[in-house]
Amino acid sequence: MKSKALGPMPTGYSAIDGELAIGGHTASALVAEAGRTPLFVYSRDHLNARMAQLRAVLPSRIGVNYAIKANPHPDVLRHMQPLVDGFDIASSGELVMAQNAGLDPARISFAGPGKRDDELEAAIAAGVTLNCESEGEANRSLTIGQRIGKAPRMAIRVNPSFELKGSGMKMGGGAKPFGVDADRVPALAKQIMAEGAEWRGLHIFTGSQALNADAIIEAQGNVLDLAAELGAQIGTSLPKLNMGGGFGIPYFPKEEALDLPAVGAALHRRVADLPPELAETELCLELGRYLVGEAGVYLCRVIDRKDSHGTTYLVTDGGLHHQLAASGNFGTVVRRNYPVAIANKFDAEPDDIVNVVGCLCTPLDRLADLAHLPRGDVGDLVAVFCAGAYGATASPAAFLGHGPAAEILV
Ligand SMILES: *Cc1c(COP(=O)(O)O)cnc(C)c1O
Repeated sequence: MKSKALGPMPTGYSAIDGELAIGGHTASALVAEAGRTPLFVYSRDHLNARMAQLRAVLPSRIGVNYAIKANPHPDVLRHMQPLVDGFDIASSGELVMAQNAGLDPARISFAGPGKRDDELEAAIAAGVTLNCESEGEANRSLTIGQRIGKAPRMAIRVNPSFELKGSGMKMGGGAKPFGVDADRVPALAKQIMAEGAEWRGLHIFTGSQALNADAIIEAQGNVLDLAAELGAQIGTSLPKLNMGGGFGIPYFPKEEALDLPAVGAALHRRVADLPPELAETELCLELGRYLVGEAGVYLCRVIDRKDSHGTTYLVTDGGLHHQLAASGNFGTVVRRNYPVAIANKFDAEPDDIVNVVGCLCTPLDRLADLAHLPRGDVGDLVAVFCAGAYGATASPAAFLGHGPAAEILV
């Protein structure tokens, strides 16, 4: 039987005593510490290393915000708090998480369509910057600010006419529920300032999960050009520009890591030559999965090993209720394999071809198809990599009643 390729293993994972080690601890020791599988393990070393790589290549002028929807685990947020320049949130629930992690609300911005009045009020009262998604939302924010006697801090999210090419999830270009169409932004900005809000500039997000440096460089250039043009039309110097993010990580076979130094070098060139409208502007990127995705591993245990018509199945206690994206049911058209390993036989030679599935009673619950792995038996641990972003909180944990996975930061 022919195997199907697995996604590329993220760097920084090695074996101790033949087992996958995360942050210096073997997988079985981590499971023993947590007391159960399935388990998400997040690595401080990986989080630190990724931030250090970014700081090394980005101009110091460009801040890094963490979009916490990628992984809002409280220990992860507390770890990220001193490493990043700000948090981006997308709900009042995330506001509470960000505040509990100790982040200064002045360094939090709140994007996302459909912000309710109670969410706007909580954010305005806390001094969080609202990235306004529409004229209607901006007007509700101004009204709420007047009612509670506090000037809202307001930026406008722009719906640009271009998008990040090759991005996994397109969020700009044409009709969108996100942001205000670019041609209407100057009028709204002037109104916001005239009504006494604190003007915080622009947010331009063009897409997600891009691995092509040239596409990111082009989109960032377009973002800076558009911000300068809108700044000139608004007529005052732009206080801040959130340039979006979109840096992807390789999940699937044949995907390659983003050429971060190339992106950094292009940003250095642009920042050295900014138009006058942006000369004083505070600049930042907002990144989610790039900061945390490769720092997480999902561990589950083999409960059953069975054969059906010549195909071997490793049935685990994990599944799509924790790792929806790895099952191929979160924004992918064709199912492909994430990087997967037998964690307690990490340096063994692969000699078996198996389907790794979850414990949910649905054919959608697949963790790896025809994976070439060392033989897995009942009791062995399966590791699914790239589990640090859009895992625990982006999967239907209530589906079928197995409950959420454990999560630890090491
Ligand atoms: C989701 C989101 C992000 C983070 O996306 P990643 O692909 O995880 O980097 C950043 N900004 C906005 C506005 C988002 O909606």
